[in-house]
Amino acid sequence: MFVSDSLAVNGQGHLTFSGVDTVSLAEKYGTPLYVMSEDGIRKNCRAFKNAVDEYYGGNGLILYASKAFCCKEIYRIVKSEGLGIDVVSGGELFTALSVSFPAEKIYFHGNNKTPDEIKYAVENRVGCFVVDHIDELEIINSAAEKENITQNVMLRIKPGIDAHTHEFIKTGQIDSKFGFLLESGEAMQAVKNALEYKNLNLCGLHCHIGSQIFEEQPFEFAAKIMLGFLKQIKNETGIELEKLNLGGGFGIKYVEGDMAIPFENYIQKVSEVVKAECKTLDIAVPFILMEPGRAIVGSEGITLYTIGFIKDIPNVRKFVSVDGGISDNPRYALYQAEYSAAVANKAGEDACDVVTIAGKCCESGDLIQKDCHIQKAQTGDILAVFSTGAYNYSMSSNYNRLPKPPVVMIKNGEAREVVKGEKYEDVLRNDL
Ligand SMILES: *Cc1c(COP(=O)(O)O)cnc(C)c1O
Repeated sequence: MFVSDSLAVNGQGHLTFSGVDTVSLAEKYGTPLYVMSEDGIRKNCRAFKNAVDEYYGGNGLILYASKAFCCKEIYRIVKSEGLGIDVVSGGELFTALSVSFPAEKIYFHGNNKTPDEIKYAVENRVGCFVVDHIDELEIINSAAEKENITQNVMLRIKPGIDAHTHEFIKTGQIDSKFGFLLESGEAMQAVKNALEYKNLNLCGLHCHIGSQIFEEQPFEFAAKIMLGFLKQIKNETGIELEKLNLGGGFGIKYVEGDMAIPFENYIQKVSEVVKAECKTLDIAVPFILMEPGRAIVGSEGITLYTIGFIKDIPNVRKFVSVDGGISDNPRYALYQAEYSAAVANKAGEDACDVVTIAGKCCESGDLIQKDCHIQKAQTGDILAVFSTGAYNYSMSSNYNRLPKPPVVMIKNGEAREVVKGEKYEDVLRNDL
């Protein structure tokens, strides 16, 4: 009935999340409110970790892609589960280091890392840079030279696969700001350059083919292409790189029709292709990295709102307004992301109404979802929007000077605040 196993209905007809009554959460903490399930997040971390242990004999590491949801507490959780992380900015790195995340398990991504970010990361001994531009090598090398260290780097490659939707394109996708092109020889040139630098150790290759992917074939194709390139590097330079990072992008369930397959199934199938291909190419199976973001936190978060005014325009649509909007969830406005929702205090009733959920920001495009099936709603009801754990809090803003909502984490049926909600004073804190 619901898009996540963490959702259910209790005896009062209230929606529960991770075993806790969402109506009482809304009463206690106010709305809008992000609610996350620590139990669910840990379960996902373990599913990935166990799959790597099982299908790659432990010769791999799962990196949580921080950009999906970044705060101190998620780093504490991920750290205690033994995962690494990827970060894409000095700010994410700063957050991770603030809770003593093991630096050697941090991979630093980004197509335009600034010299300051690079210096900061080298000084703090991040495990690896995922290099995205030929000129980045020089900057990392000189930062490493100053610190008198050898810095591990990998190169981000465009494997020529675009898998952003249900269909994937096997060629092209050269029109991307990320990565080095294989076809033009740019990637091989970057490899050769990287090998020249005294203070760099080229430890592997990286690719990331898209997000919200539901099939294993794009991952398999990408893995084959990357292994083929590893072999080509071996042939041309004599060097067999140790690591292969296959990126993230595992799809989750937002709406009923999303056919998410268990993560361990992807990993198993891709591992079979990887092992067979390595045999054919006569290379060792590399150390495998994967970077799930959404798949770790996406389904393990919901957002609670209070329903305000309802505008029923006859024969047009019914707008149900909530006390948040693009300031806490810009994903529908950005790319028509799909969501499902329910009236939390009436979750046992039929979802017989079709409404458009509107935010309170001054933009016509400030919608959470169009034509969404929910229970018959009234002003004052609590609305729960599902699968908001990824790319919601991390994309939130103070647009219209709305204070950011708090984040509450649930563990063993107990809720605790892990990010405080902002007050009006917080919105002013940098104004002079
Ligand atoms: C965004 C991103 C991820 C995570 O993607 P999900 O779809 O959230 O799994 C992993 N790696 C890189 C390089 C990314 O940019």
